[in-house]
Amino acid sequence: MSAGTLEFAWSPELVALQAEAHEVADAAIAAHGQHDDAWINGYSRVFSRELGRRGWIGMTWPTEVGGGGRSVLERFVVTEALIDKGAPIAASWFADRQMGPTLIAYGTPEQQRDFLPGILAGETGWCIGMSEPDAGSDLASLATRAVRDGDHYVVDGQKIWTSFGETADYCYLICRTSSEGPRHAGISELIVPMDTPGVTVRPIEDMTTNRHFCEVFFDGVRVPAANLVGEEGGSFRQTMRQLEHERGGVDRLLSNRALYLEALGRADTADPLVRQEVARLETGYRIGRLLVLREVLGQAPRQFSAATKAFCTEHEQRVADFVARTWGMDATLWGRAARGACYAPAYTIMGGTSLILRNILGERTLGLPREPVVTR
Ligand SMILES: Cc1cc2nc3c(=O)[nH]c(=O)nc-3n(C[C@H](O)[C@H](O)[C@H](O)COP(=O)(O)OP(=O)(O)OC[C@H]3O[C@@H](n4cnc5c(N)ncnc54)[C@H](O)[C@@H]3O)c2cc1C
Repeated sequence: MSAGTLEFAWSPELVALQAEAHEVADAAIAAHGQHDDAWINGYSRVFSRELGRRGWIGMTWPTEVGGGGRSVLERFVVTEALIDKGAPIAASWFADRQMGPTLIAYGTPEQQRDFLPGILAGETGWCIGMSEPDAGSDLASLATRAVRDGDHYVVDGQKIWTSFGETADYCYLICRTSSEGPRHAGISELIVPMDTPGVTVRPIEDMTTNRHFCEVFFDGVRVPAANLVGEEGGSFRQTMRQLEHERGGVDRLLSNRALYLEALGRADTADPLVRQEVARLETGYRIGRLLVLREVLGQAPRQFSAATKAFCTEHEQRVADFVARTWGMDATLWGRAARGACYAPAYTIMGGTSLILRNILGERTLGLPREPVVTR
């Protein structure tokens, strides 16, 4: 590196790790197929165990809890390579991205001992029970209740859009343990084994024929009180922290990257309008990647992951639109491009809608007033 220049290239160690991750991704794709939206639609328990054997789940978690103790950039390089190529990482992704870090931050030593090894080995699948029919963006209005009964909680209610509800071993449930006080108080987090009597799962097939999300019903479900994560009634802050893990990652940028690269091969780049569009998409991709890296390195302002997620997922939607137009008439036949175009609206809904994320950015990061300013 010459004096006065900034070196953006990875170190030789990271380049080698990236090459290894590309090789692993290629082998996984050969064995289990290539998946667009690989982190949510590419589901393979076999590959999840392979990731566990390689130490590629929980890479950055402390070694004391069995994690890899590796750097955030090592994890970034591996996850970027796997998602970029379309390797099926969905079976372990939620637990790696947010359940594990939440248990490390707020779980008891017993919970860490009982639940982290299965996650690290890629053996256990988790789903996130947040959204309800009448509580999506406004999480504080959730109605699923957990009532303490001796050394158990008894859970009644319904969740919806629960990705992996059908296949998960555990649900990370956000529920109401008290209706007293402000709406944000009285919310708690429970680990619910999905095979507990009273849990009923009904898969929902979306318009692209994916079946990852489900309705989950809880009818008198008895959950050990030892499965309460953090403080009873005080988990709203925990949940917001968990959402930061959910929003600032590279998964929100690369969902349809493999499809984009294929479309690029088909695009008429002799056309100056196509070239301009490609330039805009490439610029968006690079800006998004820098935003994600800032999150990964802990350099972004607090709650800025809302802006990072909004920017990256809106980029993914522009990519889906470009792909569909590049495919032309073929996109009207059922196939990857059509599926990508139909799935794209989900990018700016799941994990928080872009409108909500803009509210968070305005109110919490920029400190703008909540009420309209009245001027005379
Ligand atoms: C593919 C996919 C996977 C998902 N997986 C999961 C999962 O695993 N677990 C889970 O719990 N949930 C999951 N969800 C649900 C997702 O988190 C919710 O759909 C999302 O939070 C929005 O909630 P809602 O659908 O109830 O919409 P609503 O909250 O009803 O919003 C409807 C519209 O109103 C707008 N709006 C609402 N409030 C405001 C406001 N205050 N200001 C401005 N605009 C507002 C929204 O932006 C949106 O456009 C998933 C969703 C999708 C699409």
